[in-house]
Amino acid sequence: MDVTPEIFHGVADITGDSLALARRAAETDAEIIVLCGVHFMAETAKLMNPEKTVLIPDIEAGCSLAASITGRDVRLLRERFPGVPVVTYVNTSAEVKAESDVCCTSANAVKVVESLGADRVIFLPDEYLGKYVASKTGVEIILWMGHCEVHERFTAEEIRELRRGYPGVYVLAHPECPPEVLAEADFVGSTSGMIQRVGESGASRVVMITECSMSDNVAVEHPDVEFIRPCNLCPHMKRITLPKILDCLERLEPEVTIDPSVAARARRAVERMFEI
Ligand code: SF4
Repeated sequence: MDVTPEIFHGVADITGDSLALARRAAETDAEIIVLCGVHFMAETAKLMNPEKTVLIPDIEAGCSLAASITGRDVRLLRERFPGVPVVTYVNTSAEVKAESDVCCTSANAVKVVESLGADRVIFLPDEYLGKYVASKTGVEIILWMGHCEVHERFTAEEIRELRRGYPGVYVLAHPECPPEVLAEADFVGSTSGMIQRVGESGASRVVMITECSMSDNVAVEHPDVEFIRPCNLCPHMKRITLPKILDCLERLEPEVTIDPSVAARARRAVERMFEI
């Protein structure tokens, strides 16, 4: 969702968040998938489409959340908190997913944690999403200090200033934002939740506190709504450009590969989420 509009509306066959892309790619007859997003998204597509060739236009397109934790970190946490289940956000490497019990998205994190029926859960790697889940459940959440470098830059004062400058503005925020920002929002929800809410709210003026290309992409669908755009761009997503997509299609590389033993365990964690 965070790629620029010329990719989102211009050349993509399928659009959506990382899981929707991975699942819908599995439904096509195409043998080659070009994942126009960051590396963990391409890995997730490969996990769900092991027989297909998955390409990424820029292999260096990373993510601060995915980079905040390794498989070894998860093994050390398990040693420190024996028997405590590990729930891992999809914004992680396949290696980290492979060490986890179950994955989650920002849309289903609360449901996944509650489904485990545990008093304590290790939630990785987004501290703010973990705190949000803790606020919505009675579960004790053991946090990791990973942050999205885009969402962590928003401040509560910025939201208050937006309200002063744009009276009546409806504020939607992503749970990767710091808790004090979420406290200022009218609605807190995942990417898909925010998009749905824009339509349902009936608001004529909205601000989406998330990566700014998403507002650009959603605004196209709602020409009657005024979108206020405080712009925090994801530098990793912006590595994906039309010339790189063309180059990737012509050369059929770089290809995303995952060690089969890692892939099998990581796929299991993703599939458990789908079962929930
Ligand atoms: S917007 Fe944040 S979570 Fe998404 S890829 Fe960029 S750094 Fe990662």
